[in-house]
Amino acid sequence: MSLQERSEVGSRTVSRVTLRLHDTASRTVREFQPVTPGRASVYVCGATVQGVPHLGHLRSAVCFDIVVRWLEATGYAVTYCRNVTDVDDKILRAAADEGIAWWALAERNARAFTDAYGLLGCRLPDVEPRAAGHIPDMIELIERLIDGGHAYPAGGDVYFDVTTAAGYGSLSGQRLAEMRPADDADPEDSVTAVKRDPRDFALWKGAKPGEPSWRTPWGAGRPGWHLECSAMATGYLGSVFDIHGGGIDLVFPHHENERAQSTAAGDQFARYWLHNGLVALGGEKMSKSAGHALAAVEALGQVRPQELRYYLGQAHYRSTIDYSRDALDEAVAAYQRIERFVSRAGRRRGCSTCRATRPRPRCRSPSPPRWTTISPSRPRWPPCTRQCTMATTL
Ligand SMILES: [Zn+2]
Repeated sequence: MSLQERSEVGSRTVSRVTLRLHDTASRTVREFQPVTPGRASVYVCGATVQGVPHLGHLRSAVCFDIVVRWLEATGYAVTYCRNVTDVDDKILRAAADEGIAWWALAERNARAFTDAYGLLGCRLPDVEPRAAGHIPDMIELIERLIDGGHAYPAGGDVYFDVTTAAGYGSLSGQRLAEMRPADDADPEDSVTAVKRDPRDFALWKGAKPGEPSWRTPWGAGRPGWHLECSAMATGYLGSVFDIHGGGIDLVFPHHENERAQSTAAGDQFARYWLHNGLVALGGEKMSKSAGHALAAVEALGQVRPQELRYYLGQAHYRSTIDYSRDALDEAVAAYQRIERFVSRAGRRRGCSTCRATRPRPRCRSPSPPRWTTISPSRPRWPPCTRQCTMATTL
């Protein structure tokens, strides 16, 4: 399908215009050229479900919902994959605090995310893989990295050797010599003592008492966070795919490490890296673990879901939204103005099937139906007898 062709979306026709995306990796705006003409593959880092969703989570979902819907509206057949991280240090800690199984906590919170995304009208992903369900893919990826000399077992863990990755740091615009030690350094285990380099990051973490673990050639353990997304993205979308998305806070270390390990394993991986801006509260990133976040359920108790979606989607997707109740109220007022306009336009437009309008210039029925009112607040347009039988209730 050429770029100039037009695609039908319901009753609308949308021209296939050129889509230009800001690519974090190149720091430029690039014309979107998919791997396969007419198709688009999108991987978005979903939530780590240690808690219920807050506005920051919802913004990311809305931003990429808009990207996916736009791609579909302009004629692309989209494969949209958004993962759920259900094995993670934070989840294990939260489950231990509540005294419940890690999988029970993850399942409960994952459902809360699904409900909130649905209320905001976000299209369901085509696939929503969970990390715990893809351990064999992760083990296979680690084996490829070890065989290629990019990873090494040490102290029950497996680490990625960052010095073997060409261009490590280029996604986040850093030089290797200036990087800090990886965040997975665990002071309790003196883990840095077994690493070849403090900047190396864990692909696999050795089992600890009370934690979930899976058997591997290097001993029992569980996957590192970065590895999970590499395995799931390529597992569903192939070794090269179009768009990798997520919040701007994921650029480093998560996406830098994903990219490094996948390309080291021989995958071309993502061709465009898109990152949405954060939602801030009091000038700081909204974060439940840091104790300042507006939960989705709380926001949805104050305004309608479509108003909250408008609030999160109206700003440029790469900008930071500094949340305030006043700003939310302004967005609600703006949305309601649009609603009133659409309602007025709908009344003028008339019957949604035959487009007959008052005074019905197109309808030539022998006895034109009359405008009737079934209640003062609910005017009703009776069926157009010539072209359709559908009544339009305004
Ligand atoms: Zn991810």
